[in-house]
This record gives sequence, C-alpha cells and structure tokens, in this order.
Amino acid sequence: MSSSAEQMLARAEALAAERGLALTPLRRQVYELVVRARKPIGAYDLIDAIKPQRGGRVPPTTVYRALDFLVEHGFVHRIASKNAFLACCEAGKPHAGQFLICEECGATLEIPGDELASTLSASPPAHGFEVRHQVVELSGLCSDCQQRLRNT
Ligand SMILES: [Zn+2]
Ligand SMILES: [Zn+2]
Repeated sequence: MSSSAEQMLARAEALAAERGLALTPLRRQVYELVVRARKPIGAYDLIDAIKPQRGGRVPPTTVYRALDFLVEHGFVHRIASKNAFLACCEAGKPHAGQFLICEECGATLEIPGDELASTLSASPPAHGFEVRHQVVELSGLCSDCQQRLRNT
C-alpha cells in the first residue's frame, strides 16, 4: 500500500491523461507536495512550500483552486478534523474516505474498501437518503506512538 511518491505521481498523470483532466504544472506541484508530505498537510503549509516559476508568491486562491480540483477528481482527500489534505491511496476510484488519525504524531492512514459505506447506505434510516459526502475519521494512537508512550 505504501507506493512511492514517483509511482503515485505517474499514476495521477496517467489517470489525468486518460480522463482528459488538465493536470497543470501548478496542480501537479501541489499534488506532489501533498504526496511527499505523507501526512495531512494544511493549505498554508502548501502555499509556503510552492516555488513559483517566475519568483514572487503564488496567490493563495490559486492554491485553493488547485486543491479543489485535486479533491474533486479523487487525487486528494480533505481531512476535515485537521483542515488538511492527504493523497488518496486509490486515486481515480471513487470511494468514501476512511482514515485512522494518530492524535500524537498526526500520522494518518487511509483504510481502503467500500464495505462500510455500503453497510451504512443499506441501513434502514439511510433508505431514500442521497449521500453526497462521507468521511469517517477514527482518532487514536498509532502503533509507534503506543510503543513510545509505553517506554517513557
Ligand atoms: Zn482515497
Ligand atoms: Zn502516532
């Protein structure tokens, strides 16, 4: 599941070409930064990290628009509780977001699979309800942090 940043970028480029999506240099740069961050990264950190091609600073709205594009097309998930962004582990395959978020170090893992989403939409209260957005965020301690805390 831990594909390298290069593999994820190559997959995103192939996907964009296949679907006729314009992965502009800026969108690609934002995506690459999100991929390399390996944990949720906030919009302000992205704005700081982007190197404009002609000097100066990239306007924040441009970065927000690039993020909207990446979220809309399933390259990136928005982690609401952290107001930050994480690269999707299965870009191009529409799915509900499910994440394990460590409260100590911020490490975030995506849980692939649609079983939970189908279970929820099959439950009687959900009949006739049109789900537009589903994100499940489980917070707790990752195994590294559990070990570290146990040893201190
Ligand atoms: Zn995903
Ligand atoms: Zn942790």
